[in-house]
Amino acid sequence: MATQPVIEGSRGEWEMVIGLEVHAQIISNAKLFSGAATDFGAEPNSQVSLVDAAMPGMLPVINEKCVEQAVRTGLGLKAQINKVSVFDRKNYFYADLPQGYQISQYLHPIVGKGEIILDLPDGVSRTVGITRLHMEQDAGKSLHDQHPSLTYVDLNRSGVALMEIVSEPDMRGPEDAAAYLRKMRAILRYLGACDGNMEEGSMRCDVNVSVRPVGSNEFGTRTETKNVNSIRHVMQAIEYEARRQVELLEEGGEIVQETRLWDPGKGATRSMRSKEDAHDYRYFPDPDLLPLELTDDYIEAIRKTLPELPDEKKQRFMDQHGLSLYDAGVLVAERARADFYEAAAKGRDPKLAANWVITELFGALNKGGHDIDESPISADQLGGLIDLIADDTISGRIAKDVFAEMLATGRDAGVIVEEKGLRQVTDTGAIEASIDEVLARNADKVEEYRGGKDKLFGFFVGQTMKATQGKANPALVNQILKKKLDG
Ligand code: ADP
Ligand code: MG
Repeated sequence: MATQPVIEGSRGEWEMVIGLEVHAQIISNAKLFSGAATDFGAEPNSQVSLVDAAMPGMLPVINEKCVEQAVRTGLGLKAQINKVSVFDRKNYFYADLPQGYQISQYLHPIVGKGEIILDLPDGVSRTVGITRLHMEQDAGKSLHDQHPSLTYVDLNRSGVALMEIVSEPDMRGPEDAAAYLRKMRAILRYLGACDGNMEEGSMRCDVNVSVRPVGSNEFGTRTETKNVNSIRHVMQAIEYEARRQVELLEEGGEIVQETRLWDPGKGATRSMRSKEDAHDYRYFPDPDLLPLELTDDYIEAIRKTLPELPDEKKQRFMDQHGLSLYDAGVLVAERARADFYEAAAKGRDPKLAANWVITELFGALNKGGHDIDESPISADQLGGLIDLIADDTISGRIAKDVFAEMLATGRDAGVIVEEKGLRQVTDTGAIEASIDEVLARNADKVEEYRGGKDKLFGFFVGQTMKATQGKANPALVNQILKKKLDG
């Protein structure tokens, strides 16, 4: 077990309790109840059907693709799929909500309890419970920055399908929350259910935080901070909010259950409104929609199409390829990385391949701030380099130079090696000649070595490598030097 972080108050130690609500935009060409398009960044109000604009007499029609995505996600979270679920109206007024209610699911969500495994530093893992997943419509967007005194409304997002995924209050600090969001995003992306892009708002997070004295088994009153749009900000919001609550409680104050907003500029949360209760929304089943009924066959057919998910892939990389937990974890964190690795490792030494992919390639890409899909070197090309090392055409040392050249020019390893004459010298006669020269030039050192100064061996290796421009096979150099010096 990783030790849980505590907050040092002036009167004692406090524990954080965190539950997250993730709103994930479902990948689908059309909205949840209309055929309008869902492309990001389109001209305002260019993707609005009469249903999305809530014109009188318009009726919602469920988009089956969205149902399938919710079921896929439920299965990916090892959750119970509810064969009957119900769409409810959640009633409230807002300018970007023309219907005057949001169609959501309340008492009967499509997905029930599940779980997600957090990968924490040092190989520690912790399971966090999923409470439920339900489908709902997104609202439109108020644009406050288009006119000095007016607010405009863009309804492109109105009616877009969301999944709200609610966690149990099982997390105990900012690191847990970050690990949860990273894992959630990876699973959603593996499944192709949501692109997980927090900057574009296709994955948003409400952060519920409370604190309690270390050792207490009761939960404190929580606040909910809305729509935090990056993992870093989620961590900062938790940090800030927990500290604020501790200070307030230690002063003898009380936490009000309320909805707060994260202000990224100030690095602080502020009160938005007192927390509304479910009954404030007058939930009731939407009379325009039938309960959603799924058959076992339907669910099983979706289960059959699930890809291998990060946890299973990680285990397989360890079992089948002998990778360390750490390496396997780095590779499976993104599906594109895992795919790249598997292509580069195919038919090759899996550990050597992992090393080149993680240390060299990811290292170089990270430095330039690039994703794997922007890699100038393809998996086949990296495989080609690994082959040249494996069959002793080049040494690991020279391979790094070839790699740098590949990164810069995108050319194949074989071409670079031939053009620059980098083939490793494995001709014992040639190596022997170089060694003889080195020993002749350094007769004094040879004497010292033979007199017991063993450390000089490295010097002779270095000189020989230098004399051969790094191309001599290091193993042969060692072997021949030993023979000649120790005689
Ligand atoms: P609401 O509709 O009020 O947002 P939800 O059921 O959708 O309620 O979500 C409540 C969230 O708050 C869940 O993620 C849950 O784990 C979390 N939560 C509940 N109680 C606490 C608490 N005492 N401290 C921190 N988080 C909590
Ligand atoms: Mg909620």
